[in-house]
Amino acid sequence: MEKERLVIVGSGPAGHTAGIYAARANLAPLMFEGFMAGGVAAGGQLTTTTDVENYPGFPEGVDGTKLTELFRAQSARFGTRILTETIETVDLSKRPFHLRSSEREVAAEALIIATGATAKRLHIAGEDRLWQAGISACAVCDGALPMYRDKVLMVIGGGDTAVEEATHLTKFGSKVLVVHRRHELRASKIMQQRLLANPKVEMVWDSVVEEALGEGVLQALRVRNVKTNLTREIAAGGLFYAIGHVPNTEFLGRQLTLDETGYIVTRPGTTQTSVAGVFAAGDVQDRVWRQAITAAGTGCMAALEAERFLHEHTV
Ligand code: FAD
Ligand code: NDP
Repeated sequence: MEKERLVIVGSGPAGHTAGIYAARANLAPLMFEGFMAGGVAAGGQLTTTTDVENYPGFPEGVDGTKLTELFRAQSARFGTRILTETIETVDLSKRPFHLRSSEREVAAEALIIATGATAKRLHIAGEDRLWQAGISACAVCDGALPMYRDKVLMVIGGGDTAVEEATHLTKFGSKVLVVHRRHELRASKIMQQRLLANPKVEMVWDSVVEEALGEGVLQALRVRNVKTNLTREIAAGGLFYAIGHVPNTEFLGRQLTLDETGYIVTRPGTTQTSVAGVFAAGDVQDRVWRQAITAAGTGCMAALEAERFLHEHTV
């Protein structure tokens, strides 16, 4: 079995920043970037978006996929070795830790988990039957498909993702309905303003979607107002979930301490997990900020902490 000093699992801004720092510290890190892990391409959640306008260094904004390509090129340039494989199981009971992908098993003296998070689904009636036949969890990935052109499209959620996806969908749909379970969006103010000023957007406040209807493809949605309890059927050709994410921690088999929703618990102010030598960075350990820049920041911290750990604990 190959033995590594440092293995990084995950390939978003957290993983690649860890790669850049660790490679520059001569740790020759091995990264498992994932192969459609959690349904997201290697590079992470930014591959599912268009313009990123709040990452420093890009005053005109930068395409999300392009930004992930730049991260990858920079970490590879300094010597991060990258495998397009998903880690399926780990054994963290003793050092070196063991990790298994579909292709190989490796041992690692230190480990950085940066596996991010995946979009949530609601599992409403009709969803399984109409999944990808009018229902999607990524408007940026799927919105331009011919099946959604000039249709009434519906987005569920009230966060930045919902606002961004709804705004994006106005380019393709005849109208975009944003269904939110409360009467207040949690999205940032600037994005809310853009959304609400868009003439193609209509808000459906205090409401939940309960059923997807249609033969072969989505044709309508059953929506209930949670205040009046009245239910109505709304004709729509697309439904896009934007209701948040679940952290990608299942493969850990609860060998690290997780919080009640599955996020890895780290010691405050550090990236240290409940197992010495295992560090966590990015959205997988962050239920609050969940931004590319904060993910990158904790990726940097994880690499520096791993370097210090390896210096102090040589197997
Ligand atoms: P992720 O980006 O989630 O990447 C982790 C990756 O690791 C996964 O995609 C997968 O490829 C890989 N992986 C997962 N499991 C495994 C495994 N078992 N083995 C191997 N590899 C694995 N933030 C901003 O700052 N600005 C924005 O404009 C912005 N726009 C966004 C738009 C959308 C639609 C979304 C969904 C998010 C957006 N965000 C934005 C948030 C930002 O994308 C995340 O905070 C950031 O990508 C988190 O980075 P990460 O490195 O923690 O993980
Ligand atoms: P959030 O957790 O911020 O928002 C999820 C939304 O979905 C909330 O409005 C929530 O409602 C709603 N929701 C959750 N569960 C359900 C359910 N079961 N039924 C109905 N509605 C539900 O997730 P996002 O994906 O929007 O954002 C995640 C992070 O990524 C944030 O930190 C965000 O800032 C960042 N991001 C940044 C962007 C940018 O800066 N351009 C773009 C996209 C994301 P409620 O409000 O009632 O809880």
